[in-house]
Formats: sequence, C-alpha cells, structure tokens
Amino acid sequence: MDLSFTPEEEAFRAEVRAWLDANLPEAWRHRGVGGYREEEDQGIQREWQRRLYEGGWLKLAWPREQGGRGATPVMRAIFDEELTRAGAPPILGRLGVTLLAPLLSVYGSEWQKQTYLEKILSGELIFCQGFSEPNAGSDLASLQTRAERRDGRWVVTGQKTWSSGAHYADRSFLLARTDPTAPPHRGIGMFLVDMHQPGVEVRPIVQMTGSGEFCEIFLSGAVVEERDLVGGPTEGWKMAMSTFGFERSGLANAPRFERAVEALAELARGRGVGDDPVVRQRVAQAKIEAHVFRVNGLRALTRAQQGQVPGPEASLTKLFWSEMDKRIQETAIAVQGLYGALGPRSSWAIDGGRWQLAWMWSQAETIYAGSSEIQRNIIAERVLGLPRGR
Ligand SMILES: Cc1cc2nc3c(=O)[nH]c(=O)nc-3n(C[C@H](O)[C@H](O)[C@H](O)COP(=O)(O)OP(=O)(O)OC[C@H]3O[C@@H](n4cnc5c(N)ncnc54)[C@H](O)[C@@H]3O)c2cc1C
Repeated sequence: MDLSFTPEEEAFRAEVRAWLDANLPEAWRHRGVGGYREEEDQGIQREWQRRLYEGGWLKLAWPREQGGRGATPVMRAIFDEELTRAGAPPILGRLGVTLLAPLLSVYGSEWQKQTYLEKILSGELIFCQGFSEPNAGSDLASLQTRAERRDGRWVVTGQKTWSSGAHYADRSFLLARTDPTAPPHRGIGMFLVDMHQPGVEVRPIVQMTGSGEFCEIFLSGAVVEERDLVGGPTEGWKMAMSTFGFERSGLANAPRFERAVEALAELARGRGVGDDPVVRQRVAQAKIEAHVFRVNGLRALTRAQQGQVPGPEASLTKLFWSEMDKRIQETAIAVQGLYGALGPRSSWAIDGGRWQLAWMWSQAETIYAGSSEIQRNIIAERVLGLPRGR
C-alpha cells in the first residue's frame, strides 16, 4: 500500500483544480445532498455534464486512440476527489455515463459504440436503468418482464420500478426475460429501449422527501430493434453483473464523508452542544470512520493501480460507507433536538432542511446498489468462506 502521490499525479490534481476554478460557477458548488432537486435543477445538471464532456473529463479513462486520456485508477480517483472537494453538482446522465458507457465499450457492438457512446457522454441521450421490478429487487434473477422476438424485432411487456430519472430519460438499459424455459439467470437479455414510444408509460413515485425522481415503467408491447440488444439474447445477467461492478466500485469517495463530518461538527457547535460528551464522542467516532474509509480506499486504489480487479471485497466498501453515512446523518438529526423532527420543507428547519434530506437519502443508500443484508451475505460467503445461509 502506497500512501503518496507522484509529482505527475500532483500536477494532474493541480490541472483539475484549475479547470474547476475556471468552469464550475460558485452558485453550483457545495449544495450537497438534497441541494439539487431533480425537477428544478435538471438544466444545471445537463449543462454541467456538457462542460465536463467538452473539457474531455468524461473520457478520462478511455484509451488515447479513442479520444481519451488513458488515465490510471489513481488519476480517476484524484479527479473524483477534486469534484467532490469543489462541491460539483451531479451530472444528469450519470447512470448512462457511469454504468452503461463502460459496459458498451466492452460488450457493445460496433454499431452501438458508434451510435451511443458520444451521445451518452455529452448528455444528448439520457439513459435510465430498468432492472428492478415489484417482485424482483435483491433477487433480480426472478424478474418477469418478457421480451419476445417477432418479425426480427423484440417486443417487451412487463413492469419496472424504482427507475431513477425515468421521467426525463430518452432510453433505458433494461433487463427482460427472453427464454422462460431457461434457469432464471440464463434466460435474460439486456435491451436499449426507446422511452419515447407508445408502448412505454412512466409514472413518478413521490417519496418521503416530497420529490418524485424514481419511477414505475409500464411496458405494453414496447418495440426494440435487434441491434439494440446488448450482448447475446441470454447474456443479460452477465451484462447486469458488469454494471454492478462499476456501480459498487465508483459510488463514494473519502472527501464526501470528511466534509460531512466537518459540517456535522459545525452544526453541533452552532446548536450549542459541541461540548456535550456524548455528542463529542459521536462526532469523533464519525471522524475516525471517515478516516478508515479513506485509508481503505487507498488500499483498493493500490490494488487497482496494480491491475487487480475488485472482487467480492467491494461489498465491504459499499457496506461500510453506506452504514457510516447513516450514522453521520442520525447524529446530525439528534444534535438538532426537537428541530430534528421537522420536515425538510418546513420554514423552521435548520439550514433549509438539508439535514433532513440528507438523513432520508442515507436510508436509501443502504438499499440501492445491493442492500446491506445482501452485502453481508456476500462478505460472509465469498470473503469469509462461511457456509451459505438458508
Ligand atoms: C435511491 C434508489 C435508487 C434506485 N434506482 C434504481 C434504478 O435506477 N433502477 C433500478 O432498476 N432499480 C433502482 N433501485 C432499486 C434497487 O435496486 C432495489 O431497491 C434493491 O435492489 C432492493 O430491492 P427491493 O427494493 O425489491 O427490496 P427486496 O429485495 O425486496 O428486499 C427487502 C428487504 O429484504 C432484505 N433481503 C432481501 N433478500 C435477502 C437475503 N437473501 N438475505 C437477507 N436479507 C435479504 C433486503 O436487504 C431488504 O432489507 C433504486 C433503489 C433506491 C433506494
């Protein structure tokens, strides 16, 4: 494990910082969790994606011959850290950029690469992820949405749920059962579905935050051309597992939690409970955990730099940061006393209700990208080698 950065890496960091200083407007910085609302701030998120794309940053890891910079894992981590440190907004097409584009660059056909990759990165086409169904979440292989081949096209029928951003997406990368007679994992395909067609209906689900950025998708005979099948007709499970690998390894970085702990300490001082021994212990514990997360991240980075692929131990990282964030946000609510019980849109809520929103969001973090229970199962069985649970 190497804790130092080379002079080239430090120069790269300085380059990223200079670019952010020149291109990230002050008003877009540090709004944090809940500071960006899907409905109200789509314009900013779209424009930010365009700027990153034009700056060449969304192709950082791509090989030079494909217009990228061939960045090492350490350079990518530095870039992510600097974005977080600067308080940059999320990009609108993040699912396409972080999950689908890397998948297509490995498994996509030449036509798919030519047609989609640049448009995904630039934000010209926004993709949502159509995996989960009302009865298929953790147990994704039990999904029931069907895709049938008719006259050289695929016809898709079924229901998806919890699809983030489906209400403004142009396309979905969606899993559907192509062979009902095959064992569950073997009879699934992945399709790129046009969301603007008569066979697709999207209904946003209003959450406890008051926003509706997750949706149900109803598919009644949606049509997909053969060329929009990713991989083979029964290779969807392999495609899905690859996207999970990208998702779990790229979700969080240390500055996010270090910043959250600083803000928590500031909040506690501001509420006049900074010298309360219990509050002090909880804030100190949060600081220790954020540091543990940083050091563990460096270990994973060293392995990635040596060309090793993250294995099941990626579950340790996902479990740790999501549970840590819950503890940080619970402490933030607790130090507010009775104010902590206010809703995020109350005019009395401290800091405009952002702590309540962050607390609510932290509840979701231990569910998406594999719930904590699922991560614990993976750690027990595949990292520790314990017998399979019943
Ligand atoms: C913020 C957010 C964004 C999301 N975005 C998307 C999206 O864009 N596209 C998409 O397709 N999906 C999305 N999802 C859905 C997400 O993938 C599912 O919520 C997740 O897979 C869990 O599935 P489920 O909700 O059906 O819960 P279930 O799988 O029904 O689980 C219910 C409870 O049972 C536990 N459990 C389940 N199986 C086991 C087991 N074997 N052992 C022990 N405990 C178990 C779970 O941990 C959980 O506590 C999103 C979810 C969230 C919260």
